[in-house]
Order: sequence, then C-alpha cells, then structure tokens
Amino acid sequence: MQAAQLFVGLDIGGTKTAVLLVDSNNTLLGKATLPTRAATPDELLAAIARAIHTALTEANATPQQIESIGMGVPGQVDPATGIVQMAVNLNLQTYPLGAAVSAHFKVPTFLENDVRTAAIGAFNHLCQTEPVQTIAYLSIGTGIAAGLVLNGRLYRGHNGMAGEIGHMLVETDGEPCKCGMHGCLETIVSGPAIVRQFLAINPQTKSQVRHAGDVYCLADEGHPVAQNVVKHVSQYLARAIQWLIMSYDVEKVVLGGGVTRSGHRFLAPILREMATLRQQSSLAAELLLDENLHLISPDFNPGLWGAVQLAKQIFLEEVAVATAINAS
Ligand SMILES: [Zn+2]
Repeated sequence: MQAAQLFVGLDIGGTKTAVLLVDSNNTLLGKATLPTRAATPDELLAAIARAIHTALTEANATPQQIESIGMGVPGQVDPATGIVQMAVNLNLQTYPLGAAVSAHFKVPTFLENDVRTAAIGAFNHLCQTEPVQTIAYLSIGTGIAAGLVLNGRLYRGHNGMAGEIGHMLVETDGEPCKCGMHGCLETIVSGPAIVRQFLAINPQTKSQVRHAGDVYCLADEGHPVAQNVVKHVSQYLARAIQWLIMSYDVEKVVLGGGVTRSGHRFLAPILREMATLRQQSSLAAELLLDENLHLISPDFNPGLWGAVQLAKQIFLEEVAVATAINAS
C-alpha cells in the first residue's frame, strides 16, 4: 500500500509551537505541542523540526511522506517570499523562515501572519455549518488584531496590515503602547491590559491575579473592581465589533484568542454592551446583532487548522504549476 500523503500545519507562538499532521482527507494523524526556542534563528528552526518529528513519530510516519507545510507566525509576514519581519516574540528582525523550513524538509512551505492564519481556519470551520462568505476573526490575547476573509478570500490590504485594529487610538492620554503611541485599543482590551487595570487598583492581589481569566472569575463572583474592569473592556470590545461590522459589513465576527477562553463570562458582558448600543441607535439595532458573534470553541484551534489549509493550498498550487509545465 502506498504511504499516505501528509500535510503539516504549524502555529508558532512566542512560548509554544503546535503542530498538526493530517492526510488528504483532513484526518488527524499526529499532533504535538513543544516549547518554542528562539534565541537564534537556528534554534527556532531546530524547535520547529523537533515539533514536526514528534508529530511524525505519533503518526508512525516519515518526513518523506510530507507534501507541504503551512505556518502561522506572529509578526509581519510576506507570504510571497516567506520572509518574517519584526517577530519580536521569536527574536527575528528579518529572516527567510519559509525558505529555511522548506530547505530542511525539502517540501514547499507557506507562511502567513498568525491571526490571518487563524481567520482562514475559523472561516473554513464556520463554512462547515453555515454558508458564510465574509467574516472578521477577532483575536484577543496578548495583543488584539483581526483577520479578514472577504467574499471567501483572505484580505491582507495594501501593506498586509488590514485588521490591525489593536493600534487604533481610542483614548487620549491613555496608557503607552508598544507601538509608541498612547491609548491604543490594545492597551485596554488585551490580556495583559486587563490584568494591569485590575492590579492598578488592587496591587495587593498581584500573586493571585495573573491572567485575564482571573479578573473575569472575580467579576463573576461579584468583585466590584473586577466588574468595573470587565465592563470597561467589554464596552471597547463591543465598539471594536461594531467597527468591524461597519467597516467591512461582515456576516460574522468570530472571537478567539486566550482571553476568550473565559467563555460565557467573557461573552455575556459584551452582549450586554451591544444591547446598550442597539438601544441608542436604530442603525446599531439593525446591524449589531447577537447572532453576528461567534465565540470559537476552546477545543478548536483555528490557527492550526488554518495552517493546514495553507499547506494544502501551496501543495495544490505546486501541482497545478507542475501540470502546466508538463503540458507545455
Ligand atoms: Zn499601539
């Protein structure tokens, strides 16, 4: 029997590198999650190779069965060249990560920014249950950004920065942001920003409150400061959802990322703020509906499945090019 063709999806985060190994029918054959080591580009490449080999071992498969690799990477990515820029979490200024992985495994490799990769994964996931065409995937974690799929295609924008709403200025004289400005959306609604706003009033709880989820838990238990922080954050998230709906007329805003893992505790206050906006405006009443929101399930990793999709896409493109060359 011929060995199965395998496709690799990789989600490279600042702390963890996750891998999925699937066959041509999208059957999951192997997976692995290993720490990201990124002191040097060589170390990063070795960590990626180790993660892929771990998944291959689980699948009882060989590297020769891999047809292509798709990767979601935090930072600015040029999908045409596979060059990664300003990936602060990976210690990369400018590095041809796509070419390096491709040379190591001797297969085509396709890179995309991690939030856009997750947008592709979320879009395909949603398409399995309802016929959507246009969505925004809003990732709320260490940072905040949106990935856009418009009319079934990923939209990158002129500079590949479409959806970078984390750096929209929303508060004059707000907190400093890593981009150099003050009062960006990210300084209010990202995971670290939620913790920071709570600890600014309750510094004595520093050892217990480490993640945004802790603040959501306390708010649920009736802690007044946590409730105020959650309300403030939810007001801005409801506005961010409104911007995405008004800017791109999307059918769905899909919510994902670490902060959304608080589930109902995270979603319910946003829905309340959306209801308030609807009461204020007939336009909002018409366009800003609860059914426009979709909270991604914690068991589904859109970044990994989006990366698998990228791997399949590059494989099909290579096959199409090879067929055209052979035919000419
Ligand atoms: Zn900023």
